[in-house]
Amino acid sequence: MDWRLKFLSAYRSVNMKYCAIASGSNGNCYYIANAADAVLIDVGINTKHVELRMANLGISPASVKAIFITHEHTDHIRGLAVFCKRYQIPVYITAGSYKGSRLHLPEHLVHIILPNATVRIGTLTVYGIPKYHDAKEPCSFVVSDGATNIGVLTDLGRPCDNVKHVIRHTDVLLLEANYDEDMLESGRYSFFLKNRIRSGWGHLSNRIALETFVEHRTSRLRHLVLSHLSGENNSVECVRLTFAPYCTDIKLSIATRYQETELFDVSDLFAPSVVGFDELSLTLSKDRQWKE
Ligand SMILES: [Zn+2]
Ligand SMILES: [Zn+2]
Repeated sequence: MDWRLKFLSAYRSVNMKYCAIASGSNGNCYYIANAADAVLIDVGINTKHVELRMANLGISPASVKAIFITHEHTDHIRGLAVFCKRYQIPVYITAGSYKGSRLHLPEHLVHIILPNATVRIGTLTVYGIPKYHDAKEPCSFVVSDGATNIGVLTDLGRPCDNVKHVIRHTDVLLLEANYDEDMLESGRYSFFLKNRIRSGWGHLSNRIALETFVEHRTSRLRHLVLSHLSGENNSVECVRLTFAPYCTDIKLSIATRYQETELFDVSDLFAPSVVGFDELSLTLSKDRQWKE
């Protein structure tokens, strides 16, 4: 489907907040909000831990207006059923991801979306970004208040044009840096699993994430949060050493599996630059049809 992603920068906003409640190959949950509305992207740790970590950050689960699910892998949906039912929060999910999840959520909470959907949640707009990953119908999301764009890009098989487009148009970017190529190669994973991870349908290595980031970042970007680190084939230190030399002019954070990040506030960053946008047709080639 032909699709146009328009990220408008009509005014400067200063009230968006965001954090990783959990990030890593064992569980993912990201929170993005402005003063009026809040959304979660994925609920991949159990509800008790989501609640504990939200409490640490001073966030009320009841303030979440919608949950967006990137794909059906367990590290993205583990806590979804309990959390959405407990707080009666609508879930936005593609047909393929919902089918793949094998979850049976209350009908009134399920909103089936296309992977390139644009959804308004109060004053926020959430853009679906189709991606390559070994799931049925996966997508990433960009959350915007019309001025500040916050992108969450994890579980990326490859840095396709959609990924590059998002990097060029975000003020805050949560980007996967899943594995160190040498650690994966020499690690204890099976040959099959190693190849699954680096197949173009698995995850981004530190090197590919860095190359893509360096090539496509613009002066607009103010905060890079490296995310979805492998517990087996990566380390915070390795990621920091890889990226820090290229992030001297922006804020750099690394989300870990062990605890939530701080609740970041856009107003603590440099004022967003008002830039235009290039309209780009965001499509994926035919091999990106979802698999039965
Ligand atoms: Zn994942
Ligand atoms: Zn995945």
